[in-house]
Amino acid sequence: MSNKYVQRDSGSCLMVGGQAVIEGVMMRGNGKVATAVREPGGRITVDVHPVNSISERFPVLKLPFLRGVVALGESLVLGLKSLSYSAQMAGEEDEQLSDTELAGTMIFALALAMVLFVAIPTGAAKLFAEITTDPIALNLMEGVLRLLIFLGYLWGISRMKDIYRVFQYHGAEHKTIHAYEAGGPLTVENVQRFPRLHPRCGTSFLLIVMIVSIFVFAFLGWPDLVTRIVSRILLMPVVAGVSYEFIRLAGRSDNAIVGLATKPGLWLQKLTTNPPADEMVEVAIASLAAVLPEEERVRMGLPAKETEEQTEKSDEATEAQAAAAVSAE
Ligand SMILES: [Zn+2]
Repeated sequence: MSNKYVQRDSGSCLMVGGQAVIEGVMMRGNGKVATAVREPGGRITVDVHPVNSISERFPVLKLPFLRGVVALGESLVLGLKSLSYSAQMAGEEDEQLSDTELAGTMIFALALAMVLFVAIPTGAAKLFAEITTDPIALNLMEGVLRLLIFLGYLWGISRMKDIYRVFQYHGAEHKTIHAYEAGGPLTVENVQRFPRLHPRCGTSFLLIVMIVSIFVFAFLGWPDLVTRIVSRILLMPVVAGVSYEFIRLAGRSDNAIVGLATKPGLWLQKLTTNPPADEMVEVAIASLAAVLPEEERVRMGLPAKETEEQTEKSDEATEAQAAAAVSAE
C-alpha cells in the first residue's frame, strides 16, 4: 500500500466500506451507498443513492468514540436496507421491506443477539461460581463463553449453502477494496490477485468487540444476574465506541502490536469469506464504481460512464426512499 492511499484513508476523503448481500455487494463511500446485485437472468443492477450521516447535522457525533457508535448504528440500518433490496432483486422476496418491517426485523435481531451473546454467557458463567468468586475470573469466563457462542454461530451459518455464496461475495468485496486502495486498476483479473481478508472488516470488528467487552465489563464487578444483563446492554455503545477506534487504527497502522492484535480477526475471516468467482468480482466492481467520482473511475481503469444508465433509473426509484430515510433520522 503506498503512502498516498494510507493518507487518503486518514483524511476526510474516500474511505470505502462494504458488505456482502444476497447475490451482491453493497459499497459505501463518497456520501453514497450502492448495492449491485446479479439478477437471476444474469444482468447486474445497481441501486445507488446519497447517504447523509446524522453527524453532518450534529458534528459532536464526529468525536472519537461517539463516531463509532453512530457508524455502527447507521451501517446496521443501511446494511439491512441493502439486504432487503438484494433479496428482492435476486428473486427471493416479492417486495422490499417497509420501514416498519425493517424496524421489526432489527429489533428481533438485536433481541436475539442479546439473548445469545449477553444473557446466556453471563447466566452460564454462574456455573463457575463454585470454582471461583473472583469478579475478574468470572468476567473472563463469561467473555470466553461469549466468544465460543460467537464462533459456533459463525461456523454454523458458514456451513449453510446460501451463506456460502454470501461469503463468496464478502471475499469479492474485500478483494475489490484492496485493489482500489492499492491504486487499481479495477479489472476482474487484477482484483482477483488481492487477498480476500481485510483488516477493516465487520468480522474483525465483532471479534474486537468480544475482547474489549471483557475489559469493560470487568470494571463492574459481579452483581446479580439482572444487573449484569442490564449493565452490559447499556454499556454496548461504550464497547462499540472503543472497538471502532481500535479497528480504525488497525486499518492504517504499521505498528507491530496492532498488527498482531488484528491477526485473529483475519483468521476468522477465513470462515466469513470464500474465494469468489469472477462473476462475483464483477458485481463488487460495479458496486464500487457506482460510488466513485468520475475522475476516480477513470483513474481506476473503469469506463467513465459505465453505470450511468443503470444508476439513473434506480436513482429515481430510491430518491423518495432516501428522503424518507433522512427525515426519519
Ligand atoms: Zn468484511
